[in-house]
Amino acid sequence: TKPPVRIVISGAAGQICYSLLFRVAQGDVFGPDQPVILQLLDVPQAMDAVRGVVMELEDCAFPLLADVIITDDPMVAFKDIDAAMLVGSRPRSKGMERRDLLAANAAIFKTQGAALDAVAKRDAKILVVGNPANTNAWILAQSAPGFPAENITSMIRLDHNRAQGQLAAKAGVGVDAITKLVVWGNHSPTMFADWGNAELDGQKLADRIGDEAWYRETLIPTVAQRGTAIIEARGASSAASAANAAIDHLRDWVHGAGDNWVSMGVVSDGSYGIPQGLVCGVPVHCKSGGYARIEGLILDPFQRTMLDRTIAELVDEREAVIDILK
Ligand code: NDP
Repeated sequence: TKPPVRIVISGAAGQICYSLLFRVAQGDVFGPDQPVILQLLDVPQAMDAVRGVVMELEDCAFPLLADVIITDDPMVAFKDIDAAMLVGSRPRSKGMERRDLLAANAAIFKTQGAALDAVAKRDAKILVVGNPANTNAWILAQSAPGFPAENITSMIRLDHNRAQGQLAAKAGVGVDAITKLVVWGNHSPTMFADWGNAELDGQKLADRIGDEAWYRETLIPTVAQRGTAIIEARGASSAASAANAAIDHLRDWVHGAGDNWVSMGVVSDGSYGIPQGLVCGVPVHCKSGGYARIEGLILDPFQRTMLDRTIAELVDEREAVIDILK
């Protein structure tokens, strides 16, 4: 058997992890023959709840689950990791300003960045899920100068999957039939679900659906407001679908996604007018344990405006947290 891989998962006592941990332990990320060690991180007051979840993990008797570590210390949690799913983040509490929320999370990710830098393997694959995910990932990268920034990513896959599902339903086809879909930008209502390059059976999806007004006035806002719609219907935020998107993101990065494009928040190389260093959702190819940005797409004025709007929000968020790094 293979030696186990180590993954740190933060926010282990939370809702998303209540779905996520079981799927990782079952092999949904690393594969059916790859043992895994879960290194679970949460805040001190959540340790009892984490212990409860770990009892349930034990009761599943997952053959691939080689060990579970529970800790509130990032230096323990990030030790020798091959991968990270950073789900834990500070939720907005009553009366809290957006700026305060950004700052509270920036402090968390600054500490975790230092631990990542100090004790993680250099080729570890890092995925930030906890919001504001893109800016948290940016802080993490800034706080881990000795760690390769291209290995730090943020999740936009849930928006990608949501758009894929809505478009497939509209076209009356299975989700797999739609390719080259992109979700650009911030994981926030400004994100841009872009069907400009998308294809269905090798034809332009936009031509097949033939309803530009539906795309602009229904699809884009539906995807952007999907999280709110789920909260209203369920009385709780989406958790299983967020966990699923995190699994899709990391599994594709580890194992590849064939010729298809997927959307990932990655550190910008300056292309598409995205300021260098900003963590922004872009289209990528995942192949043999790495990802490559899809280059050279020509954006029309609508695409440009939509991308610029979400970039502007990311730049604002960066401005709001930059002092934390001093
Ligand atoms: P969830 O498990 O529901 O969500 C965790 C984070 O994921 C939130 O920031 C949430 O952002 C974000 N998220 C991203 N995409 C989605 C989505 N589609 N739907 C819902 N959430 C999404 O939060 P809980 O409050 O249940 O649990 C959080 C856990 O994190 C707690 O156990 C807490 O103790 C822990 N924590 C750990 C820290 C650490 O390890 N240092 C620091 C702070 C908290 P959104 O704001 O949009 O809901």
